[in-house]
Amino acid sequence: DAEAGALAGTVRSTCPYCGVGCGVVAQADGQVVGDTDHPANRGRLCSKGSALAETLKDGERLTRPLIDGRAADWTQALDLVAQRFKATIAEHGPDSVAFYVSGQCLTEDYYVANKLMKGFIGSGNIDTNSRLCMASSVAGHNRAFGADVVPGTYEDLELADLVVLVGSNSAWCHPVLHQRLLAAKAKRPLRIVAIDPRRTATCEDADLHLAVRPGADVALFNGLLAHLADQDALDHTWMAAHAEGFEAALAAARQTASQTAALTGLDPADLARFYQWFASTPRVVTVYSQGVNQSSVGTDKVNAIINCHLATGRIGKPGCGPFSITGQPNAMGGREVGGLANQLAAHMRFDQPEAIDRVRRFWRAPNLATRPGLKAVEMFDAVLDGRIKALWIIATNPADSLPRADRVREALARCPFVVVSDCWPNDTTALADVVLPAAGWGERDGTVTNSERVISRQRPFRPAPGEARADWRVLAAVGQRMGWKDAFSWTSPAAVFREHAALSGFENAGSRPFDISGLAMLTDGQYDALAPVRWPVRWAGDEGGRLFGQGGFATPSGRGRLVPTPWRPPAGRIRDQWHTMTRTGRVPRLLAHTGEPRAALSPADAARLGVKDGDLVRIESVHASTVVRATIDAGQRVGELFLPMHWTDEFCSAGPAGRLVNAALDPVSGQPELKLTPVRAEAVPVA
Ligand code: SF4
Repeated sequence: DAEAGALAGTVRSTCPYCGVGCGVVAQADGQVVGDTDHPANRGRLCSKGSALAETLKDGERLTRPLIDGRAADWTQALDLVAQRFKATIAEHGPDSVAFYVSGQCLTEDYYVANKLMKGFIGSGNIDTNSRLCMASSVAGHNRAFGADVVPGTYEDLELADLVVLVGSNSAWCHPVLHQRLLAAKAKRPLRIVAIDPRRTATCEDADLHLAVRPGADVALFNGLLAHLADQDALDHTWMAAHAEGFEAALAAARQTASQTAALTGLDPADLARFYQWFASTPRVVTVYSQGVNQSSVGTDKVNAIINCHLATGRIGKPGCGPFSITGQPNAMGGREVGGLANQLAAHMRFDQPEAIDRVRRFWRAPNLATRPGLKAVEMFDAVLDGRIKALWIIATNPADSLPRADRVREALARCPFVVVSDCWPNDTTALADVVLPAAGWGERDGTVTNSERVISRQRPFRPAPGEARADWRVLAAVGQRMGWKDAFSWTSPAAVFREHAALSGFENAGSRPFDISGLAMLTDGQYDALAPVRWPVRWAGDEGGRLFGQGGFATPSGRGRLVPTPWRPPAGRIRDQWHTMTRTGRVPRLLAHTGEPRAALSPADAARLGVKDGDLVRIESVHASTVVRATIDAGQRVGELFLPMHWTDEFCSAGPAGRLVNAALDPVSGQPELKLTPVRAEAVPVA
């Protein structure tokens, strides 16, 4: 019931762009405005959110299934997908097939995809483009907290006296959260420190900008931990009760503490000021996002930050905590259902034999996978070398967005069977054997979870064009055709959600941080009307708050773990655009902000290369080269340039930045080094 829980003539939903997860109201007059009752935004919207109504055009949408580029009906398409996956598994085993899904998927879509691959096909080969976004945070949380949990809430940014933004251009990438932060700063003393190699829009609002050398965040936070110890600014009482591993973490931090300025490239006076502010301010929140995660040392960066919070007890209390902000609207929901190849389901893990047994019994799944599958970059390597022979891609465009995008395209071209579910044609659908038209935002019905653990509804308020269908229904139909009729027999997203909620509390309810079993008994009407709610929700009416302020970590000892993060050098976005522009690239108002990809060069490098603002430059990595216009940017460090990720072949002849990018992986999280690739730049002579 699209109208349930809505004002008369309006429907409440959740913005589909970023992990802030703002509430929106789709009005009867066709406008989409901010929801004043939603806890994430209280009515605010950013430029992307306020242009949502302009994306609701059916013109270029996929409306019918396509087989080999020709229109087909759903029965033909579903039969073919089920038959080809079954035949491939029968001949080559369950690990010869894979799903690559997306933080765009609703939790219900994710749950069904994960159940089908891990529970019934029997392979761990389901991974998600969230691997590119926050896998290092997941791994860091698991190491420190024993579970993938964000301890704090957005309110903590407003209650803090010092907010440290690390690799997080919140002014452009999480704008409503940034607005909340600035509104709090306008009311009372609140310092902002921005740690970013580039002087971004966010840095303009900061009291201190630390233009750290790319990849040197571990050295910076190791230096901070050593400073806190030297200044006797640790909370030994809290650590004695709730933490472990401090001595080893400090010993690793001390190895490079005397070289921090040299390793980070920072002015020692700026470093000293930041360290002194952190040590002397009781309420500190450290926010981190893609600049931390998208690195071959991303997991260590996350733990180096968390170490400083655990050593000072600055966690899970008002205005305190390490805070990972996710890029996508449902990166968190995907983590809840086990949408990453190394996760099981409901935050359970493959290294827990009792969890494998629990999920197997709950699903009655005799084929349950017992080991992790291939992570995103590895998955496409396996497609290229023939280990994976059937691949289903849902709501993501890896032909542009993955590192070494040319190799990904070659892999898709070679793969014997590729299925792509999406709303719009893109560079990935062009390489598919079967294209399945998906219902999009405003048409889909389900839930998402934002960066502060708040579950919100996405509700439909318009019909899907043509024959487009919800992804969970399509996955369930294929599961049934593959022979698992009962396990995939849901008739509504509410039924899928109830099963997901019940699994989270199955056996020992209340003993795991991710527990939403209090929502397992929702009626269809209650699900339709569900107001935003933060997990854990252990019983009906429960609402989760901050976690770990008084310990209670999910580690075997119940203590938070400080993790040694010895220094390792690393292996090597535009405000109004989003991902590979499949949605925002069709809104003229958003293209007007920046109409083409530009390489930002420092004035010194531009002078050295003989490049003026607007001139063409050729950028070459070992993987590929491209030609784009230059922007002279005084906020760019000398010897480095910045290229945004969004543009694809569809929108610009320069093609995707992903073609150039390094595929070095973090050894723990498998997250690629998207933020740092060695390149050569030269001026392109004008003919
Ligand atoms: Fe949407 Fe994020 Fe903007 Fe909120 S901040 S309106 S969730 S894009």
